[in-house]
Amino acid sequence: MSITNDEIEELRQLCPNLYSRNDAVFPDKAAPWSIWADRNPQFANEPQDIETMQAVVKYLYSHKSIDFCVRNTGTGGASATDIVLSMHGFKELEFFPEDETVVAGAGLSWGELDQLMDQKTDGYGCVGARCTWVGVTGGPLVGGLSWLSHEYGLISDPQNWLDAEVVTGDGNCRWAVKEDPDLMWALRGGGGNFGVVTRLKLKAYKVPSKIFCGVILVPYSSLHEVSKALAAFDKRPSDPKIAMHIMNQGLGAGQTDQGSKPGIILMPIDFRGEAHARSEEGFGWAWKVTGAQEAVAMETTLTGVNALNDTFKAFQGRNEFWLAAPLVSEIDEEMLVRMWKWYEETYELHPGFGAGSVVLLEFMQEASFNSTSGPETTAFPHGRGQRHVLQTQLGCPPKSKTKAGGDSRELAMLRMSQAGKEIAKDAYTGEWHAGFLHDWSDLKEVYGPNYEKLKQVKRRYDPENRFNKGVNLTEGKITEWMTV
Ligand SMILES: Cc1cc2nc3c(=O)[nH]c(=O)nc-3n(C[C@H](O)[C@H](O)[C@H](O)COP(=O)(O)OP(=O)(O)OC[C@H]3O[C@@H](n4cnc5c(N)ncnc54)[C@H](O)[C@@H]3O)c2cc1C
Repeated sequence: MSITNDEIEELRQLCPNLYSRNDAVFPDKAAPWSIWADRNPQFANEPQDIETMQAVVKYLYSHKSIDFCVRNTGTGGASATDIVLSMHGFKELEFFPEDETVVAGAGLSWGELDQLMDQKTDGYGCVGARCTWVGVTGGPLVGGLSWLSHEYGLISDPQNWLDAEVVTGDGNCRWAVKEDPDLMWALRGGGGNFGVVTRLKLKAYKVPSKIFCGVILVPYSSLHEVSKALAAFDKRPSDPKIAMHIMNQGLGAGQTDQGSKPGIILMPIDFRGEAHARSEEGFGWAWKVTGAQEAVAMETTLTGVNALNDTFKAFQGRNEFWLAAPLVSEIDEEMLVRMWKWYEETYELHPGFGAGSVVLLEFMQEASFNSTSGPETTAFPHGRGQRHVLQTQLGCPPKSKTKAGGDSRELAMLRMSQAGKEIAKDAYTGEWHAGFLHDWSDLKEVYGPNYEKLKQVKRRYDPENRFNKGVNLTEGKITEWMTV
């Protein structure tokens, strides 16, 4: 069953901002990150105020033959066959200096929020995603990692995401903390699907204006050396002001001695500035690795740091693309070597994986996953030993086949499901970043002690399971096509 002409007209009456596939703005309203997730929706409906949103949500909820999704940026793969409910009408931001809080429209991206914070505040920032293109709501609905997480915890933690205005399937609108703390608890990392979040109340923090970020390129031949140095770095006492990303170089970005072998990118971030970053207390070791070459070294604002990877956005809507991120407790001396082995072996099985594939170790600090009183404080059960995030990202051109003529996604899923154990060995905690789950992910494991309570809240707010994209608690699984 799909949406009827009468239903389309009724929706138009409720909310005239109804875009069809012929409208030039349609991709901006409806394209998911990975084209694999695209369900070819017919229309995007975009309420501009809360009353219209309430009417549209109530209508969509009660018309059970209409397949719809709630979408902001599409980064999380939001798509549906009939209607995309676009959040782009909700992009306002208000700053309250007296208690250093922000009320933000749920249709902003984190990049837009950063820009507004720069305009409206004197040096404040929020604990938000480490890239511009993630939505302000989709991020915390799956936990959410930030460059500020090292100091303040996950985006969804109660000290950072203070409250949410939610329109539920019955059309009612409420601020969750006052009306139902369990709803707020479930929104914090529970995967969403309890209603439509329209506004978020967030904590704002004063952030330095000169944050150091660097890009250091290291040849493949120094892989073992970097791996050892990283294990030693991991043994140091946790420092909430510094963090690092370690990933493979992409095609065409290699160094002269390595042929087609993927070199190493070290990306140090230091909130104490450049002098500290270059010192032995910071990342002095990184510049000393054999063959290391500094490609980027600058001091910039939080907005600048979050925009560092912006070229990656070019992949949206063009590639097939999947991610999975097992959580890791510590780094041993061979871990980077195994990461590269995993990447090279995967690439060998499907040369198409050269297009947009990355293996990325997000070196985190203690506070990131341990800033709440325990696993049951929020729906995402952190504080169980996680420390670092191992991101595996595999991208390939549409409909390309593996070397053996097989299905790209099947291979990607197999390799990703093996990555935690294969790369991190005993340091793989058995846990996963809730933003990159797949139909093989075991939701009971992901949500651990919080799974049953999450299902109860789901039953209360969405008894008909009409919000059913992504983490589908009613069916106990992830929507197959929505996994990116
Ligand atoms: C390349 C890449 C980089 C990433 N980097 C980061 C990062 O640095 N930090 C981080 O925390 N995460 C990161 N993520 C993960 C990201 O947080 C998730 O993919 C998230 O789901 C994206 O949310 P969105 O709103 O942008 O996407 P969408 O696809 O629009 O939405 C994702 C899900 O959230 C739901 N949703 C969105 N808005 C609302 C709303 N207002 N009310 C109710 N439900 C809603 C949708 O229905 C859908 O189920 C990254 C993902 C990718 C692909």
